[in-house]
This record gives sequence, structure tokens and C-alpha cells, in this order.
Amino acid sequence: MKIITDERCTGYHSAGHPERPQRISRTLERLRSQTELAVTWAEPLAKVVDEVVLRAHTKEHLARVNFSTEDFDGDTPNHPNIADHARRSVGGALQALASARKGEMAFSLLRPPGHHATRNRAMGFCYLNSVAIAVLEALATGVKKVAVYDFDVHHGNGTEAVLVSEPNAVFHSIHQHPCYPGTGTAHVGKNCFNYPVAPRTPRAEYRNILERALDDLKKAKPDLVAVSAGFDAYARDPLAQETLEAEDFHWLGESMRKLSVPVFSLLEGGYSSDLPELILAYLKGLDGK
Ligand SMILES: [Zn+2]
Repeated sequence: MKIITDERCTGYHSAGHPERPQRISRTLERLRSQTELAVTWAEPLAKVVDEVVLRAHTKEHLARVNFSTEDFDGDTPNHPNIADHARRSVGGALQALASARKGEMAFSLLRPPGHHATRNRAMGFCYLNSVAIAVLEALATGVKKVAVYDFDVHHGNGTEAVLVSEPNAVFHSIHQHPCYPGTGTAHVGKNCFNYPVAPRTPRAEYRNILERALDDLKKAKPDLVAVSAGFDAYARDPLAQETLEAEDFHWLGESMRKLSVPVFSLLEGGYSSDLPELILAYLKGLDGK
């Protein structure tokens, strides 16, 4: 299991904001002290060129992330050096992609998350869309068909917005509705499939929906799968009202492992104090433990 991280991603925060640096620092502590899983550590790809970012984003958006000092929206503050943090997160996704293509199981454990950033807008804690950028990089460098499986409890609206015009990508998102940002109630275009789940949906039913989305994803016969791994559908997550337990994230990891194609995963949401255990459960599933 390869974990891609960089301690610098814990170097920004906003008082009272639910997306706290501790979710990474505590998870790293937990993963470094555990002995059940054999982990190798790697750094994000150091150089992320504009050309790669601009496949998913507009020049205007990139310029704003680079130079603006204003907050992007109420949920997305403009931290000092946010462009460096956002690029490092993209570098983590690209490193995870490269590892997957070499046959390694990889997990990028960085902030900020990415799946809400649209082509021209930072939103919902996200500045650049790491998963969409990695998918477009894969397609530009020889992978024929890429699927995204997004089990973060919030709709991956930004990933959908970027990939809906990409015929060689498919996007499957399972998320609570209503919840932030309120999109994701129906399928969009020919390649974006949404599975809205009501608040407080019983755990077994939620799991059936996760399974149905995965079965649908397999029908597209992707050559590579990118996972937007959010752990906020957890029963005790403070931002949503869902019912999953650590065991379900282990099952999700196992299910990704059983896909017969390369898979890489990126951390998106997950705000409960149990996040380190939830991530460890997922990684164990990925690793066949
Ligand atoms: Zn989320």
C-alpha cells in the first residue's frame, strides 16, 4: 500500500471551519503507528505544469487561485499560499495515478480535497479538482476509458461538471440528498450517474446503493478507476446524517481491490474524530487484510 502525503498540507486553517488540518495529522499519526498494514510512503509529484491543470480548469480560474486574496465563497476561504496547497494535492493525485499504472495500490492523503471545484469556480473546501485533473491526464497519456467512483457523502458536482463533456470518462457518485451542494438528483449527460440517498437511510440500504453504483460502473468496462474517497457518510460524521460504519469502508476498499483494473484513491471528505480508523479500515480492504 502506497500512501502519498506531504505534511505541508496541514499548514493552513480557518478558525471554526469544519475542514481542519487535524484530520490529516491525526490520520498520519495513526497510520505511522499501526503495524497491521505494510505501507510505503511517497511524496506528491513535485512539478505540476499549468497545461495539466488547464485540461480541467479555465485560465481565469487558475489565475484567481494563484493571485486573488478574496475568499472564493463562504465555505472556501482564501488561505495564504492556497495555490501551492491545491497544486500539491493535484500532485498527490498524479502520483497516485502513476502508482496505479505501475500496478501499485495507492492512496493520496492530502488537503485540500477536490471534487467540488468546477472548471471556473472553487467551492466547498475545494480549489482545484484533483480527481478530474488526474482522469484527464490518464486519458491524455494512453488510457482509453476511466471511471470515477465517488463515495463522498456530498455530490461531486465539480467532477461531474468537468467530466460530463469527456466521452471516455464515466462518473458515478453516491451521496446524501438534500445535502451540499444540492445537485446530483438525476443522471447528467450520457456519462454521469448520480445515486442520491435520503438522510438517515438504513445502513444495509445505503450499502445496496453503493453496490448498485459499482455494478453500473463495471458495465462501462473502464481500464482504470479513480476513487473520490470521502468518509463523511459515516454514522457519526458531523456534516451529514448517514449511517455507514467502519466495516462498510473496509468493504468499499475490498470492492475496489476486486476490480480487475488499476485503481487509485484520493481523500475527499470525512470530518468525524474517527476518521483515522475509517481510513485505516478502507486501506485494509484495499490491501486484502
Ligand atoms: Zn463530503
